[in-house]
Amino acid sequence: MNAETSRLLSHDELAMVAALLDLPDPDDVRLRQRIGDLRVVGTCGCGCPTVDFRGGPDGLELIADAKVAGTDGDAILLFGHDGMLDRLEYVWVGGPPPARWPSPRLLRKPHRPDPSLADKPDWLADPDSDR
Ligand SMILES: [Zn+2]
Repeated sequence: MNAETSRLLSHDELAMVAALLDLPDPDDVRLRQRIGDLRVVGTCGCGCPTVDFRGGPDGLELIADAKVAGTDGDAILLFGHDGMLDRLEYVWVGGPPPARWPSPRLLRKPHRPDPSLADKPDWLADPDSDR
């Protein structure tokens, strides 16, 4: 890690981390304090937007992941260990590397089904369906 080559996260990177961690608005003051110490110390180099927050040995743990809606299986992975974030990685299926992060609104987390699709109250059912 080299202070001269590290930089603050871009707004898009911050939004991705916030979305994967289920944090509120990335512009929220508390959030800026919580992940304000993050720095980008390395990039993938293949053209994709993957960034490393820390150099060092491997042994990364998957902290959060989400599929990208409207793709063939693209996913965003967040790695870390010991309470520190290590890497924000874009994994894509086919084609050239994506040039930028998707909108956080397109993320679909496997462990968090859309609440609007589950547990519909009875009064939303078709009133004529059983008559
Ligand atoms: Zn890459």
